Amino acid sequence: MKSIESILAQDTFSKEDIIYLLSTNVEDRNKLYSKAAEVKEKYLSRKIYFRGLIEMSNLCQKNCNYCGIRIGNSKVKRYNLSDDEVLESAKFAWENRYGSIAIQTGEVNNKNFTERIEGLLDKINRATNNELGITLSLGEQSDDTYQRWFNKGAVRYLLRIESSTQDLYYKLHPNNKNHNFETRINCLKSLKRIGYQVGTGVMIGLPFQTLEHLADDLLWMQEFDVDMVGMGPYVEHPDTPLFDFKDILIPQEERFNLALKMTAILRILMKDINIAAPTALQAIDPLGREKAIKCGANIIMPNITPGYYRNDYKLYENKPCLDDAADDCKKCLEARIHLTGYEIGYGEHGNSKHHSARIEKS
Ligand code: SAH
Ligand code: SF4
Repeated sequence: MKSIESILAQDTFSKEDIIYLLSTNVEDRNKLYSKAAEVKEKYLSRKIYFRGLIEMSNLCQKNCNYCGIRIGNSKVKRYNLSDDEVLESAKFAWENRYGSIAIQTGEVNNKNFTERIEGLLDKINRATNNELGITLSLGEQSDDTYQRWFNKGAVRYLLRIESSTQDLYYKLHPNNKNHNFETRINCLKSLKRIGYQVGTGVMIGLPFQTLEHLADDLLWMQEFDVDMVGMGPYVEHPDTPLFDFKDILIPQEERFNLALKMTAILRILMKDINIAAPTALQAIDPLGREKAIKCGANIIMPNITPGYYRNDYKLYENKPCLDDAADDCKKCLEARIHLTGYEIGYGEHGNSKHHSARIEKS
């Protein structure tokens, strides 16, 4: 049997190695975290980059079994920010030198929505002197729509695979043509072909999920050659079908630790990608995102959605910072990041180095 030291001395990992690392005890997992931090500093820098997160709307046509804003949840108060409200948030990010924003919504695909986003991209770029790096996270769309948004200056796209194991994917989603595993993969391929920095991710600690599934997820990300990853613990929401399986879940603390281990292993596997410290970590531990930074993450997504809408964008329970105005969030995050010993890359895009290397190679 290999030792933790010999596994961590390797440059890449087999599925067995990953399962071993995911099963480590406290002492060994600290060695894993230190190694991941070392890799991050060697291949990237001590800088952490911000993406100001704008949760533009909770309208959604889909019905994912885990998500609080699924169309089937009639308890949700639906909202849709006006263009001016989105612009105000984008300007806040620009004026505070966040470098980048990420616009996220439920999934809506129709002509009006495509055109609205095109118009918004124009407006944001005009209002911020083309200086913000813009990330979109607007679900599955047609090639043409992805291309149109890219042409208007969106540079990154986040679309989590949720689970790279098809069987598990169908346990998390209704089995119908609106929730098709292959479509998801094809969307990711299309984003890559168009030239986006492509981000994906999975939820960790889902019902029915095993360490093998998680190891496969990491190897799938490596094989797909993604540029960015955001993966966090699954946090159950009472008004969703997956809540029925709450009794077979591993405890939240274990999901949290698994998410940190996944982050650290991925950093060693894919040295120069961007890895986000997801907000869901903070729903379990108030210092969650800071802990992720210490074991390989290099991106933080401060929520800059106008405060009075935040309560209605609840994908899961205990979502943090629901009552904070964007400005409070900035101050508290800044202090928290400085405590980790890292610095904030103010005014910089912090693009994925992996993406630039990939484009140069092709
Ligand atoms: N509609 C878009 C973007 C919003 S959802 C999309 O689906 O891609 C963004 C992410 O939130 C999802 O990819 C999912 O991984 C995560 N999410 C949803 N419900 C969650 C839950 N209960 N616990 C943890 N993460 C969740
Ligand atoms: Fe809609 Fe995204 Fe939630 Fe699925 S995960 S229900 S697509 S917001």
